[in-house]
Amino acid sequence: MKKSDVIVVGGGLAGSHTTFHLSRLGLKVILLERGSIACGASGRNGGQVLQCEGKDRDKDIILNRLKYTKRSVRLLKELKDELDFDYEFKQVGTADIVTDEEGLAESKELYELSHSIGDDEIEFLDWKGLHEVCPYFADFLIGGRIRTTDGNLNPLNLANGLVDKAKKYGAEVYTWHNVDKVVIESGKVKGVEANGEKFSADKVVLATSLWTRDLLPGFGFRIFPHRPLVSLSEPIPYFKPPAFEVLIGDDVVWGGTQTATGHLLVGGGAGKPRTVEEQYDYVLDWEDTIRNGRALAMIFTKIKAVNVLRIWCGVSAYTIDGLPLVGESAMAEGLYIMGGFVAGVCWTPICGKLLAELIANKTPEVDLESMNPNRFDNMKIELPEKYNYAIMLEHLGRL
Ligand SMILES: Cc1cc2nc3c(=O)[nH]c(=O)nc-3n(C[C@H](O)[C@H](O)[C@H](O)COP(=O)(O)OP(=O)(O)OC[C@H]3O[C@@H](n4cnc5c(N)ncnc54)[C@H](O)[C@@H]3O)c2cc1C
Repeated sequence: MKKSDVIVVGGGLAGSHTTFHLSRLGLKVILLERGSIACGASGRNGGQVLQCEGKDRDKDIILNRLKYTKRSVRLLKELKDELDFDYEFKQVGTADIVTDEEGLAESKELYELSHSIGDDEIEFLDWKGLHEVCPYFADFLIGGRIRTTDGNLNPLNLANGLVDKAKKYGAEVYTWHNVDKVVIESGKVKGVEANGEKFSADKVVLATSLWTRDLLPGFGFRIFPHRPLVSLSEPIPYFKPPAFEVLIGDDVVWGGTQTATGHLLVGGGAGKPRTVEEQYDYVLDWEDTIRNGRALAMIFTKIKAVNVLRIWCGVSAYTIDGLPLVGESAMAEGLYIMGGFVAGVCWTPICGKLLAELIANKTPEVDLESMNPNRFDNMKIELPEKYNYAIMLEHLGRL
């Protein structure tokens, strides 16, 4: 039987950051991942570093989010010197774009609200301002707001860089190891079973995102799925696009990450409403493919004759209040949850660090109270019978 101080299950960004920080603090860590590192949402996402949800109006909610995300952005800058992988972090900003005058008036109002509470990293953009930021945006995109400190990165390189460094700090990493069972005796965690082998530790972190419900009976949809699509263009000359998000009809289109090799990513929730279980389907149908491929042409109309090379989807995690679950679960002593990341590229750096500090019995530099993984206990979580991104956001009151 293999023994360690902590077992981390799941090698996405959540598990990678946590493993990195735990190992850096000197704990003996085993990381178990059922596929390859970042084979889930973490290797499939758009790489946008997004600090806030566009439509938040509650001062306390906005400031609470910024407390974590500002620190995350700093960590992403600091990690550049520590990791041996280039994860291409660029602070090109995130534009929350609108397509009509009503939306523009709301953007102005939200921009003023941000400044009134001291959040001054937001700029208001009229048509001219937006097209100065990116001259290749289509003309029907008439303005919005930009958070200048946001940006994008290469999430696959980041996750692999963290795991590579964690190994150098002493972590043992087992990929292609599916954890079938979390062993709990008399209310205390004892370890896990994976690939027919036993792994022992008094502390287990489940960084298993949407699949946590398979490991913990009764966990249900505290974390629930949505299946966005992304398309990737052939390489084109670098034009410094910002990350962006815009609602067009019933589809939220987002993206803008351009990789170091010149490929441009544009994503959009597949339009067809799906049941919860259908959100886990990695197979694209023809309609999904056409719809997503069109998004690139629609946003960047001025970039002519660019081929879309690939389109894929992934399963993204949501929670009803938009915050992740990070901390010790009430289900067993020594059982920790690190999941439910809606915008995990920005949120997992600080959460991985805080959770590692908590597990290592250090006082986390920022408290984890609002991410308490037990806050949905005894709550019945209702989801629409079938949903796409827009239906889900409307259901959650965030459109
Ligand atoms: C298409 C798409 C685009 C996105 N775009 C963005 C974006 O631009 N910006 C942003 O911030 N966020 C984006 N997201 C969300 C972001 O990807 C997630 O917030 C983030 O990756 C969550 O990381 P995670 O480690 O919690 O989950 P995951 O990356 O899904 O990792 C969970 C891991 O657990 C493993 N696992 C599960 N069960 C077991 C088991 N029993 N045993 C062993 N291993 C197991 C899985 O194989 C997986 O690797 C996007 C998501 C998708 C799908």
